[in-house]
Amino acid sequence: MNIVLLGAPGSGKGTQASLIGEKFGLPHVSTGDMFRENIREKTPLGVLAKSYIDKGQLCPDDVTVRMVEDRLAREDCKKGFLLDGFPRTLEQAKALEKFVKIDCVLDIDVPLGKLLRRLTGRRCCEKCGESFHVDMLGGAENCPKCGGKLYIRKDDNEETVQNRLDVYVSQTETLIDYYAQAGTLRRIDGDRAIEEVFADVEKVLKAL
Ligand code: AMP
Repeated sequence: MNIVLLGAPGSGKGTQASLIGEKFGLPHVSTGDMFRENIREKTPLGVLAKSYIDKGQLCPDDVTVRMVEDRLAREDCKKGFLLDGFPRTLEQAKALEKFVKIDCVLDIDVPLGKLLRRLTGRRCCEKCGESFHVDMLGGAENCPKCGGKLYIRKDDNEETVQNRLDVYVSQTETLIDYYAQAGTLRRIDGDRAIEEVFADVEKVLKAL
């Protein structure tokens, strides 16, 4: 099963991706996580990516596509994968088709007006990568799941978040029509509790 998760920043696609990965045994391929790993390790790709990510802009298509193509060619993706955060432009979607067949595109749909608050209140775990909203943490500074230290992503400040949402509307939203026309799109109402969203996701994937 080759799955793409679409959705604006803050729609909860990363959370759903972890749940899908666990339940269906698929590797979770997140381009945002891959870039952040490169930034932590100070690789040349990380240095390049940081200059875009810190401003809330997209990294260039060519380097992003190459990174994904290399990752999907690895053994663990042979039986399927879950792409989170890619494609984000029409060029990336067209490039992806050249090296894999996508079975299903899940769009986690959350009204844009709710995303700014979701993102600026987001706290991420240094250890397991899970994210939580500050409202759910009751002041806790450690991850409720694994106990790791929680941190605020550098690109989750209000100005950068606004840029990321603008980029989503101008470049990524068009992919919804693109995949609807291809017949692979399934829309999921993401403006609900995590478990309710996942119940719908599960129904769609089991029917494939
Ligand atoms: P994310 O964790 O998915 O929100 O991604 C964080 C940042 O990484 C984005 O704001 C972009 O700067 C960069 N990024 C992630 N995926 C892509 C992509 N497919 N194309 C270009 N830039 C990306």
